[in-house]
Amino acid sequence: MSKQILIAGGGASGLSAAIAAAECGAQVTILERLPRVGKKILATGNGRCNLGHAGKELAHYHGTLPQAKQILQQFDTVRFFRKLGVLTRTDSEGRQYPCSGAAASVLDALRLACERLGVSICCDTKLTALSQQGGRWIAECENARYSADAVILAAGGSASPVNGTDGNLLPMLERMGHRIITPLPALCPIPTNPNLVRSLKGMRVQAMASAIVEGKIRKQERGEVQFTETALSGICIFNLSRLAAVYGDRMTVSLNLLPDRTAQEATQLLSELIALYADAEADYLLIGLLPKRVGAVCIKQALGKAQGSIGTLFASSKAREQLLRQLTDWRFPVAAMASFAQAQVTAGGISGQSVDRNLESRCAKGLYFCGELLDLDGDCGGYNLEWAWASGSYVGKAAAQNA
Ligand SMILES: Cc1cc2nc3c(=O)[nH]c(=O)nc-3n(C[C@H](O)[C@H](O)[C@H](O)COP(=O)(O)OP(=O)(O)OC[C@H]3O[C@@H](n4cnc5c(N)ncnc54)[C@H](O)[C@@H]3O)c2cc1C
Repeated sequence: MSKQILIAGGGASGLSAAIAAAECGAQVTILERLPRVGKKILATGNGRCNLGHAGKELAHYHGTLPQAKQILQQFDTVRFFRKLGVLTRTDSEGRQYPCSGAAASVLDALRLACERLGVSICCDTKLTALSQQGGRWIAECENARYSADAVILAAGGSASPVNGTDGNLLPMLERMGHRIITPLPALCPIPTNPNLVRSLKGMRVQAMASAIVEGKIRKQERGEVQFTETALSGICIFNLSRLAAVYGDRMTVSLNLLPDRTAQEATQLLSELIALYADAEADYLLIGLLPKRVGAVCIKQALGKAQGSIGTLFASSKAREQLLRQLTDWRFPVAAMASFAQAQVTAGGISGQSVDRNLESRCAKGLYFCGELLDLDGDCGGYNLEWAWASGSYVGKAAAQNA
């Protein structure tokens, strides 16, 4: 008789777990709380689904799950999707996307594979409790009761609750004895003092962004920084946001708007511009380097005023040094914790200590975990979906073979 496997959560990891388990001959049922599976997949990569990264370096992953290394190394995202009929392309930065350019095609291929393999999908079905009776798992849902040989929990993290993920299973799992690393929002804007950014809302600059904690640079990311009314945003900021959630107001973000120049080159450049625009109003000094509004705000924050001719304002070397510091080390204190509603992923979740090398619970035999529910989160660039497919496929197979 084939093994019966229940999967709670029909997202990226749950669907790949279902495919792997069904391919191993198991009878698989997915329980999904929302009216449809894979809602979050449709929102990924701005609707284009950045489904993996060619580099796959482990340095882009964070958390307490040493088991992840081997699982990620043996998984091939391109081959996984090729088998489902989805061809992929890789952009110049190593990010992988479906050739269709549409997240919907990724979800369709996963759903069709489930259908071909006879996976049952029960939507509007939220798992609320788990127990064991006579060697079988009993899953209580709001509207029904299911039993199975093994259960895979693929219910995601706490980020983006609009897509069905709010950490609802964590209290139950903690009661069962699992160690939970406190979930924190990651890959999100970093809130700062609104007075520093409000007037820049909508502006974008290229910068080297540094996360500074207690005077030390903890991480640096280069790219486009966007200003919102209350926060810094953009991919490079997203990649620092995990640290902002951990360190809170002990962290400051520093922006270097002249990352390609040495201090000497930057000083020289500034002197040239001051000489060139000596008779012009201050707003014009940085027009060749930055959006005009950003330049004006930099000058105002550096000198405390931005009115007057450039030659007069920057007559003293002190004023030049102040502006140089502003341009190369523009400080933004972290003001508050971002919300899970704004976050793309969750830092934290089930600790690696609570699962074995098969991602099976150390507290209860026949209970497996995959995806963002575990304490592993990746940087922006396809790393999180890659982990979802890899861990889902891995536990699907393990559960079907071991149940
Ligand atoms: C806007 C946005 C854009 C993103 N873009 C990218 C990207 O381009 N590339 C990338 O790598 N990552 C991206 N991510 C992150 C990526 O989507 C997630 O890391 C990934 O989907 C996690 O997969 P998962 O299977 O663990 O969880 P999810 O895909 O979140 O699926 C979990 C599922 O479980 C269901 N569920 C929850 N609780 C229960 C319950 N009690 N019973 C039944 N069902 C339940 C939920 O409804 C949900 O469908 C993005 C995230 C967001 C929010």
